[in-house]
Parts: sequence; C-alpha cells; structure tokens
Amino acid sequence: MIGFNKSHDWTPEFKRFTLAHELGHLSIPSHLEVLHKESRLVSNPGYYSDKEIEQEANIFAINFLAPANPFKDKLNKLSISYSALEELRTYYKISREATAIRMMKLTNNDCSFIVSNTNNEILYDQRSDFFFDNHWHNSIRGNQVNEQSQAYSYSCTNGCVTSQSRLKNWYPSVRDDYAIKEQTFDLGYQNRIGTFITVDPN
Ligand SMILES: [Zn+2]
Repeated sequence: MIGFNKSHDWTPEFKRFTLAHELGHLSIPSHLEVLHKESRLVSNPGYYSDKEIEQEANIFAINFLAPANPFKDKLNKLSISYSALEELRTYYKISREATAIRMMKLTNNDCSFIVSNTNNEILYDQRSDFFFDNHWHNSIRGNQVNEQSQAYSYSCTNGCVTSQSRLKNWYPSVRDDYAIKEQTFDLGYQNRIGTFITVDPN
C-alpha cells in the first residue's frame, strides 16, 4: 500500500514522481526486505537524499517516467536552458527539479544545476559528467550563495533571469576560472531556487 501525507502541498508532477518512487521500493527486491523488516518506509518529499535506498528508488522513478534514450534524443536538440527545461518537463509531466537533474545526468555539456533557497543556502548541486571531469571540486552543499550571483537576490516572483557570472562565484576553489551563463528560476515549492550554470568554452 502506498500512502500520501495530505499535509504536503503536492503538485500533480510531484505525486507522479512519488508514486513511481514508491513503486521502485516495491519492485526492488532488497527494498522489499527492508520493508518487511521495518513494516513501512517513509519517503520525504524532495529529489535528493543521502540514503542509498532512497537514491535507488529515485533512479527507478526517473527511468520509469522519463526513459534515458528518448530523453537524451530530445535534449541533444536543445541547449541547457530554462526554455529547454520547460519543454522537457511539460512533455514528461515531471517537476522542474526532476527534469533539471535528468538534464544534467544526460547532457554532454559543461554545466551544473544548483538548488538554493531564499535564505541563500545551497542545498545541493548536480553537475554534468563533463563538468565533473573538468572542474574537480568538493561539494558546495551548505555553502552560502555568492553575492555576485543573481540567485543571491532572486525572488520567487521573478520568473527566469539570465546573466553572466564567473565559475568561481559558485565553485570557489576551482583551479581555472571561466565565464559562465547563469539562469535562475523558481522551482515551485518551499522557496527553492534553481540555477543552471553553463561554462562558456571561450
Ligand atoms: Zn523512498
């Protein structure tokens, strides 16, 4: 049985993702073992978790809702941008956050997706493989958003804002600094803000 906590303000996209996530727990044999032992599994809303079992259920969910190959085909025809995000999330009926994470996992571009809140705290970042290989850096989770980044003063009524910035504003100890494009937008829940950064190769 799958239950929803009604006190959360679930969007249809969030519900779909959560149902797929719970279906993952019910489909992965090692999760069923945990389920039998603990009689219930509680999943908190959000797409990021340190727990392996939650990560696995999220991987199941995203592969179920937005299979990698067709997603990649569509993504290859688009740039890493807010408009691409909107196009993909409308098509796949998943949230902005889940779509953005999917984009980072499947793109060949040099980019990162950073989630912060209106207190300017960085909650996590999801880097593309190319970014990971070329700009090695420790986790920026828990860092404060740099004042030079537009996410710093972003208010959730702004829509999508685009500007230029520097890589070191987000990743202070990278060896080489680069010009980056920033796109900041509202993620639609809990005052969460998403920022795409794309590194300009020139
Ligand atoms: Zn779960």
